[in-house]
Amino acid sequence: MAQKRITVAIDGHSSCGKSTMAKALAKRIGYAYIDTGAMYRAVTLYCLELGMIDGDKVNKPRLRRHMPKIEITFKVNEEGKSDTWLNGRNVEKEIRGMEVSNKVSLVSAIGFVRKAMVAQQQAMGRNKGIVMDGRDIGTVVFPDAELKVFVTASAQVRAERRFKELQSKGDTTTTFEEVLANVEERDRIDSTRKESPLRQADDALLLDNSSLSIEQQDEWLYNEFLKRVK
Ligand code: C5P
Repeated sequence: MAQKRITVAIDGHSSCGKSTMAKALAKRIGYAYIDTGAMYRAVTLYCLELGMIDGDKVNKPRLRRHMPKIEITFKVNEEGKSDTWLNGRNVEKEIRGMEVSNKVSLVSAIGFVRKAMVAQQQAMGRNKGIVMDGRDIGTVVFPDAELKVFVTASAQVRAERRFKELQSKGDTTTTFEEVLANVEERDRIDSTRKESPLRQADDALLLDNSSLSIEQQDEWLYNEFLKRVK
């Protein structure tokens, strides 16, 4: 009998390794992987490029008018990795930089932005067989997901991981303190916003991976997946 196809929802704090484990699982089980943070990052880049953000203020009426013009897609590159495209342009590198990281929580707190992104995400997962990571996947996007995980780790550990990642990508100007401040600030805004705040779904498994290796967390997740498709 064919294995049943399910929806896997992975939520959690910033830079806790959600996407690493979500990507690894999707590859291993042959499911599509969707990075919903990349979608909010792409909208933020669009706003920055058109000068719609001034300090911590987003020009909402203007952004609302532009929403129908913002098209975000994912395309697999030559290395087999998924890149984020914004209106026909590969923006994968730009959306990961500090400029976007510093503003993305302002943009993702806007109700009409969330509504548009959630609708696209639900369409992508209509046929199940998907691993999606974000902040509200188990609570809002797919409340009926068969496997929900809420990942966390201490802010210090998360900032160290993110700092190493930025350095490995050639960023030599961002300091560790800036990364730590950004991680803490995004946690604060994401958890206290009115629209779908970051919270653990009642039926989500909690995973604190502060002292787990990537291999250990991958095995843990794979086992939880197997329990649900048997
Ligand atoms: O996952 P990542 O850290 O790339 O997400 C960037 C930001 O996008 C988060 O800090 C959060 O503000 C927002 N986000 C969200 N809902 C999601 C995914 C990301 O609000 N489902």
